[in-house]
Order: sequence, then C-alpha cells, then structure tokens
Amino acid sequence: MMSDITAFIALGSNLEKPALQLQRAVDDIDSSDSMRLLSCSRLYRSDPVGPEGQPDYCNAVISITTSLQPEPLLDTLQTIENHHGRQRSVRWGPRTLDLDILLYGDQQVHSERLTVPHEQMHGRAFVLYPLNDIAPDLTVPNKGRLATLLDNVPFEGLDVIAEHWPWF
Ligand code: ATP
Ligand code: CA
Ligand code: CA
Repeated sequence: MMSDITAFIALGSNLEKPALQLQRAVDDIDSSDSMRLLSCSRLYRSDPVGPEGQPDYCNAVISITTSLQPEPLLDTLQTIENHHGRQRSVRWGPRTLDLDILLYGDQQVHSERLTVPHEQMHGRAFVLYPLNDIAPDLTVPNKGRLATLLDNVPFEGLDVIAEHWPWF
C-alpha cells in the first residue's frame, strides 16, 4: 500500500507461557490485513520492573509495515492483547501480553491515549537491546541515536534466550 508506514512494536509477557504468547502475537500481527511483519529481534528474558514478586518477562521488538494511523494501530494491538487474556488491574503488574508502539515512522504523537515515541523506551534495556538487533542505525525522534541511548543503559537484568524465533 502506498501509505504504509514502518512501525516498531515492543512485545512483553510474563504469564501463561510467555515465549508462546509472544510467538502467537507475532503470528496474529502478521495475519492481520492491516499489518505485515518485517523483522523480529532475538528473544529475551528480563527481570520484572514494577510490583515485586512477579515472574520474569519475555521481551522482543518487531518492525512492521501498516496501513493504520497511530490510534487505530493502538486499537488493533489492544484487541490482540485482549484476545490473549490481558487483564488490566495493577499498574505494571503481570500480564499475558503487552504490545507497545515504540515508533511510528519518524512521527511524534501526543494524544490522550498515545505518546510516540514511547515515553519510557529510552531508559529500558529490554526495549533498546532488542531494537538494536533489528535497527542499529535508528535515530529516535526527540531522543537521539539508538547507539547513544544504549551507551547510557547497561545490558543488565537481561538474557538472550533465543537467537532465532518465532519457531513457527
Ligand atoms: P508502560 O507504558 O510504562 O510500558 P504498560 O505497558 O504496562 O506501561 P498499559 O497498561 O499497557 O501500560 O497501557 C496503558 C495505556 O498507555 C494504554 O491504554 C494506552 O492508551 C497508553 N499508551 C500511551 N502511549 C502508548 C504507546 N506508545 N503504546 C501503547 N500504549 C500507549
Ligand atoms: Ca509496556
Ligand atoms: Ca502497554
């Protein structure tokens, strides 16, 4: 499609077979009419942030092309989260699936529902290292070069658990 935009999406899960949740989410995204998978980072395990005592997280970042505008893209991703049994209770609490829009082309979005680039991405190892797998030359609007952001965020609380995935 002529108007397709490249977007980067962060995936996270720490409930009900996290790796499988991420794999199915990639499949759901790629099977949607309005989104197509371009590339996929390695698969990571990360220490939970937020409330204590949660299971470890599984994280990855993907790039897609999409015909959707930012807010409809958020709607579509939230529908997929809901299909994965996402409950919204405790802030930063455990979840079956979290899909965050990191970047939408080089556009900036500031609405009640959506901030793009994602507000917290520049400080999160579990976002920046997977992003670096697929887009090392990226510049984040308003935040600078990914390589520079990585200099300030150590590879800590993070392990690569699969070089190649999804497995189906
Ligand atoms: P965090 O945003 O710190 O990673 P979270 O992912 O746990 O926290 P959620 O409960 O999943 O937060 O989402 C809360 C709200 O954040 C969503 O309903 C959505 O309206 C809003 N939001 C703002 N910017 C974004 C974005 N870039 N991607 C996804 N959701 C966003
Ligand atoms: Ca999140
Ligand atoms: Ca989210």
